[in-house]
Formats: sequence, structure tokens, C-alpha cells
Amino acid sequence: MAKSKLPRIAYFCMEFGLHESFPIYSGGLGILAGDILKEAKASNYPLIGVGILWRQGYTSQRIDDKGYPYDSYYEQGYDFLEDTGVQVRVRIRGRQVQCKVWKCTQFENATLYLLDANLPENDDRLITGQLYGWFSEERIAQEMILGIGGIRALKALKLPVEIYHFNDSHPVFAGVELIRDKMDEEGLTFEKAWAGVKEKIVFTTHTPVKAGNEEHDHELLQYMGAYNGLTFGQMLKLGGEPFSMTVAGLRLAKKANAVAELHGKTARRMWGEVAGAAEIIGITNGVFPGTWQDQRLANAYAQDGDLWIPHQQAKREMIAEINRRNGVQLDEEVLTFGFARRAAPYKRGNLIFSKPEIIGEYLEKGKLQIVLAGKAHPNDLTGKDIVAEMYRMSKRYPKSVVFLQDYDMKIGRLLTRGCDVWLNNPRRPQEASGTSGMKAAMNGVLNFSVLDGWWPEGCIHGVNGWQIGDGYEGKDQDAKDRDALYRVLQTEVIPTYYQKREKWLKMMRASIDMSHQQFSSARMLKDYFDKLYC
Ligand SMILES: *Cc1c(COP(=O)(O)O)cnc(C)c1O
Repeated sequence: MAKSKLPRIAYFCMEFGLHESFPIYSGGLGILAGDILKEAKASNYPLIGVGILWRQGYTSQRIDDKGYPYDSYYEQGYDFLEDTGVQVRVRIRGRQVQCKVWKCTQFENATLYLLDANLPENDDRLITGQLYGWFSEERIAQEMILGIGGIRALKALKLPVEIYHFNDSHPVFAGVELIRDKMDEEGLTFEKAWAGVKEKIVFTTHTPVKAGNEEHDHELLQYMGAYNGLTFGQMLKLGGEPFSMTVAGLRLAKKANAVAELHGKTARRMWGEVAGAAEIIGITNGVFPGTWQDQRLANAYAQDGDLWIPHQQAKREMIAEINRRNGVQLDEEVLTFGFARRAAPYKRGNLIFSKPEIIGEYLEKGKLQIVLAGKAHPNDLTGKDIVAEMYRMSKRYPKSVVFLQDYDMKIGRLLTRGCDVWLNNPRRPQEASGTSGMKAAMNGVLNFSVLDGWWPEGCIHGVNGWQIGDGYEGKDQDAKDRDALYRVLQTEVIPTYYQKREKWLKMMRASIDMSHQQFSSARMLKDYFDKLYC
């Protein structure tokens, strides 16, 4: 279809990961949103973004002198944004909150509109202060700005939109606003307005764990003003009780997607019983090469050149940056694993360290180095313990394990280019997709991963990476996965790296082939237009 015939999309998300200098993102959700905007611009798709201008950004997380992470937020400048001149109002807790609408095109991205409540006339200027810094009331207020304010901004800007895409459930109040608007303007009943609005909404679900899906009390929603003119009975029909943001997203949408095929199965199992929920299809994530692929490596790949030279260059640059930050000198000739994650228990950051009698040998005898990075959500104390544990491992093996604090896109780029192997060992099926491994694959950094998220679709064991285990879920899963990890590490990964360099290089090329064919943002956006927006 000609691009001019495609429906115009407004893509709503709480966070956008465009660049490390613009900290309005926290992790995978935002990176996905950022890559979609960049791909839309590069491939000329009719898509714009709607988000929030987080004045203090996301947490900058550092390790204190007891080895424990702490959070800081900084007032940000953002002098590259353009003022649209448009302001909208959202009634929160009975008071009008004025929001400015900014425009961002700074990062070779499709236009992103950002709402900002940091104005002198507002009593609470910090509603749009910290991304995920708060919860409950403040979270609802933020979601009202994104959803209700976002729709009003599009209207005030006179931007025509055919499809509203809610990336995860934070924007669902946009659906409430669209329904109420349609009821007011066309004099329709709630049911008729809902049916009309449903034709224009699609929804992407992310978290495959029930507890990770946000819920709110109705009383609180009503008090905050999130009902937005609807009644308790009507809101109940959308989100149930308590009000589940994901259920509301699924019921508001004509179609929904999960972010990998396996995640699609999991999501259908989780949400299949919800009456009135949209069908959930799998559309696997992809990553934008312009952001993530090393240009020298891309050139060597395109010209059938030696991949080792640009790979080692990227590795040396990573090692130099690690030395600059942490004062540890890694060895470029030693096999180096990367593991950078949001710190969550299911990601099992400690699995590779769980048998020190095996792993200690490799780490202490110069056979293996591990670069760790990760942040915990600011309110997640378990996650912070995990960060502290990663840091402890770097103290236990000071010459061969490093922990880089304050994980951001810069560290993500450095590691997914400069490591040799990308380790990923979540407890299946809890990793919805896991895009960092796609960045690695695109750089010939070989994935060594449990069959979760995107990896079952890409992995050809021993050809473009390695699988850990066989996709087993159930009793003794951690022990089984740990044993499989050590077995493949000892019998395949280490011998191939040190004794079969030719094979390694072939695997790097196969990994890049796979990433181009299956896990690029170009493929993903084409799938969105072909399968979700149609
Ligand atoms: C790519 C990226 C992520 C998401 O990767 P996962 O594999 O889902 O963990 C998170 N944070 C940063 C900074 C990234 O660059």
C-alpha cells in the first residue's frame, strides 16, 4: 500500500527512549517507543508520538559506599524542544492543571508531542516531574495528563488521527476521553460511543506477570477525576473492580498485540477470559539499526569484510570506557559476557555466579570476564537488593567482573557492541521480549539465552548463538537452567571462542543475518501497519 493511504497513527506511551541526553525513558518500554519513532521517520510512516516531558527525568541511580543503590533526580534543561504554542487543561483532584505542549524532532524521530505541567499557574508543577518516581494518586495524575491531556493536545493541534495506539496501559484514560467526547459531541449512549471509539484504538500489552499489571481503586479514580464524566457503572464495564488498566486497554481496543510470539501465547492464556477483550496477536519487537548498530561493523558486514577488526575496535572502546568509569582494566583477548538488565528477580542476574567452584575458575584464571549493568525501579526494594548483589560480585572478582552503575542508553550501546556474548537467563515465560539481545545480535555479539521472549524465534543453536535449556518450565527450573548454562558454557561457548575463531566469525555473521531478517524495527513497523492498524 502507498504510504499516503496508510492510516495516521498517534502512538501514546509514558516513556520514550530517544537518547541518553533526554532521560524521559526508563527501560525496554521506552526504547521500543523511541525506536518506533525513529523507524517511522526513516521509512516515512504516518505516525506521531504522544508522551510526557519529565522535568526531572528518570532516576539516576548510583551505588553508595555501603554498596547499595540510591536514586537522584535532576532538573533538566531540554533546550532543544519547540513550543507548539498550544496549552490544554486537565481537571485533576477538582483543579484545572494547565499543560504546555512541546514538540521534539531532535533525534531523527517522527514528531513527538510532550505534555508538561511545569507552569507557574499550577499548584502542583511536579505532576510531570519524575518518571515512575511516584505511585497511586500521583501515578493516576500522570496517566490523566498523558491520556486525557494527550487527546486534547491532538485536537488543539488539529492533527488528524485514524488510530490511537496505546503502548502498555498507562495511556488508557485517553480511551475514556475519546468516549466521553463522542458522547458529548454526537449525543450517543456510552455503549454506542464505546463501540465507535473501539474501531480506532489498538493496544500493546507487555508484562506477562499479573502482579505487574497496574490496578487502581475506583474511589481513588473518582476522587482524582479520572472518570472524566463517566459513571462508576461505565468505568466498571471498562476496567472491572479494582480498575485494571490492562483489562481496560484490552476492552477499549479493536486489536491488541504482545511483543513476541511466545509472549502472545502467554498473554492469551492470561487475558483470554476477559469478556470483550480484543484478540491478542504476536508482533515481535525489533530494534532500530541507526541507534544500535556499530557503523564500522555494518560496513564490514555489507562488504563481506572481516568482522573481527570492527568487533575488537568496539570491544577496546568499551574496555576503555569501563576503565575510565570504574578503574578496572579488562583484557581484550579474554571472552567477555555482557548482562545489562532492569534488576528484577525473574531475570536471575545471579544464575551464572551460583556455582562459584565452576565459574570462579574461569573468572580468576583469565578465561572469562563479565560486564554487568542494571537499574532497579526507584520503589522496588527487591530490585535494589539485586543491584547490590551484582555490585558485590564485582568486588568478589575485582579483575574480571565489573558493574557499571546508572544503566542508560549509552551503556546499552557500549555493551551490546563491545561484548562477545550477550547473556540472558530469565525464568521463562516471564521475559516478554527482551530487546537488548536484538541490539547485541545486530552487532555480531552472540546471544547465549534461555528460550524466552524473542529468542525462540531466532535461535539456531550453535549457528547464530546458543540456547540455555530446552524451554522447560516448572519444578526445579532454576537448577535445570543453571546446569544447562554451565554445560553449554563449558562445552561450546568457551571452546569455540578460544579454539574455533573461524566458526565464531561465521556465527557472528549468522547473528547479523538473523537480526536484519527478523528483528529490525523496519520489520516490526511493517507488521504493525499490516496486522494491527489495518
Ligand atoms: C535496550 C535497553 C533496555 C531493554 O532491554 P531488555 O533486553 O528488555 O532488558 C533497557 N534499558 C536500556 C538502557 C536499554 O538500552
